[in-house]
Amino acid sequence: MLELRPNCECCDRDLPPDATNARICSYECTFCATCAETILGSICPNCTGDLVQRPIRPAKMLLRHAASATRVLKADGCRQAA
Ligand SMILES: [Zn+2]
Ligand SMILES: [Zn+2]
Repeated sequence: MLELRPNCECCDRDLPPDATNARICSYECTFCATCAETILGSICPNCTGDLVQRPIRPAKMLLRHAASATRVLKADGCRQAA
């Protein structure tokens, strides 16, 4: 099950569970579409995996399985994976 992290690791923009502009890698490093596309080239800077659109969790399922409230932010900012 996905954690559904609440923010972009680059710019700290809110990414609620129904955001269509959330992007994740297989480890669930989470970014907004703007950072993913303009800064990161759709490659995760942490693990160099692909960033893809995060699926929406329907509201009724969020009642059962809440989204993560733990914000993750890259301390040294974002840059493209080497
Ligand atoms: Zn961002
Ligand atoms: Zn990653």
